Amino acid sequence: MSGIPGRVRAMENIAQTTFRPGDAGYDDESAGFQTGCTVRPDLIVAATDAEEVRRAVAHAAAHGLPVGVQATGHGRPGPSQGGVLISTRRMDGVRIDPVTRTARIEAGVRWGQVVAAAAPYGLAPLSGSAPTVGAVSYTLGGGLGLLARQFGYTADHVRAIEVVTGDGEPRRVTSGELYWALLGAGAGLGVVTAIEIGLVPVTRLYGGGILFGDGPADDVARAYLEWAATVPDELTSSLGVMVYPDLPMVPAHLRGRRVTAVRVAYTGSAAAGERLVAPLRAIGPALEDSLRELPYTDSATIHNDPDQPHAYYGDNAMLSGLDADAFGEVLRLTGPDQPVWTVTQLSPLGGALRTPAPNAVPYREAAYAVRTLSLVTPDTDVAAIRALYEKVYGGLGARVLGRSLNFVFGAGERPEGLYDAETLERIGRVKAAYDPGDLFRRPGGGPGRPS
Ligand SMILES: Cc1cc2nc3c(=O)[nH]c(=O)nc-3n(C[C@H](O)[C@H](O)[C@H](O)COP(=O)(O)OP(=O)(O)OC[C@H]3O[C@@H](n4cnc5c(N)ncnc54)[C@H](O)[C@@H]3O)c2cc1C
Repeated sequence: MSGIPGRVRAMENIAQTTFRPGDAGYDDESAGFQTGCTVRPDLIVAATDAEEVRRAVAHAAAHGLPVGVQATGHGRPGPSQGGVLISTRRMDGVRIDPVTRTARIEAGVRWGQVVAAAAPYGLAPLSGSAPTVGAVSYTLGGGLGLLARQFGYTADHVRAIEVVTGDGEPRRVTSGELYWALLGAGAGLGVVTAIEIGLVPVTRLYGGGILFGDGPADDVARAYLEWAATVPDELTSSLGVMVYPDLPMVPAHLRGRRVTAVRVAYTGSAAAGERLVAPLRAIGPALEDSLRELPYTDSATIHNDPDQPHAYYGDNAMLSGLDADAFGEVLRLTGPDQPVWTVTQLSPLGGALRTPAPNAVPYREAAYAVRTLSLVTPDTDVAAIRALYEKVYGGLGARVLGRSLNFVFGAGERPEGLYDAETLERIGRVKAAYDPGDLFRRPGGGPGRPS
């Protein structure tokens, strides 16, 4: 079939649009936001609905092929060589029910679409920092959103899941073991074709970012940690430290500088927000201060995450506790004099994230998440990044409870710690029942078959 021009053709009655290596459109369809992992499936099924997903899974099962799923390619990867990749980007329907305050979100939808669709009803989804991230996969990994401390994990708000499991059956679940396991480990069990999720009555926020450039980053971090311990659950924040690249797309006043950014999202009034952030402003002179009242539809400006595809490697640790000295050591290890360029982030957790929910999202007792992300270029020595991260996370010692699946980027070859032992065992039992052929094997990035 190679060499036939055009992207659209029928293939074995699986779907209207499929691609084989060499086909026009194959590279575009297999590409994702994360450019650091090459995905070369033997067949890409560009699904438009749940029936095409079902047929793609049936085809893979009949031929014993591994299956990967891709919406936007922010997280990646499923199987990278051979097998079937189900591309869901055409499944982009969002339906809002303002009466039940629910959104039905198809597999290929990005958060920005849901935010825009819910806003006219005075509602918002529990979305994250970047509007371009896929809403379904984000939620299957737990979902640590802008308002996480007030409302908990995004997964905790899921009311129904439509899924084609590895045994080829389309199902709709609202409770039970499969529902429990999909929310936390969904990528290893099947293709979720849509979710129904509760929305919150939020139309505006007080928030934004305050960027500090002078003085050592750990002084800001020390003051931030003290401050974060005092704020109410209605305020979710994070701290990020990075050296801005000296590139034309970076504002001139930030280029080449080591910057410590505190990001804030608070659902209380602007006046109360101003009072709450006063100690942050007192830390010292800011390079930028965008703290203000803003509509939820502008919430992407709080973090201003990059929107251009690039290659990155990232990992994280969920921590039982953290003091300024220990975090100061993390900042030293990831500082500008190190050979690996790293963004280091710290998120205080707690609040509603601690509330138990009937799903497999682990480590609810965690008080902090520390994340590191390094840019990867063709010259990057990924082994050096791995070695650095081992030092960083190893140094945090017994505080480390485990790792959050959503913030593992390219580091999935190390599956340890993604779940506690009890959760992993329970997921394994669900996997054996619903994906008995292990079609959705994730290379280290998710649960495998029970051993
Ligand atoms: C810039 C950026 C900002 C982020 N911000 C946040 C944040 O604020 N909070 C947070 O919690 N996370 C955040 N993340 C992490 C993000 O939620 C995960 O990487 C998520 O998996 C991305 O989903 P995707 O659909 O965009 O990516 P994809 O790479 O398309 O999907 C990731 C993986 O999920 C699986 N998958 C995708 N779709 C399905 C499906 N329909 N059914 C079953 N499995 C599926 C596949 O295994 C796939 O390989 C961020 C990531 C980036 C790069």
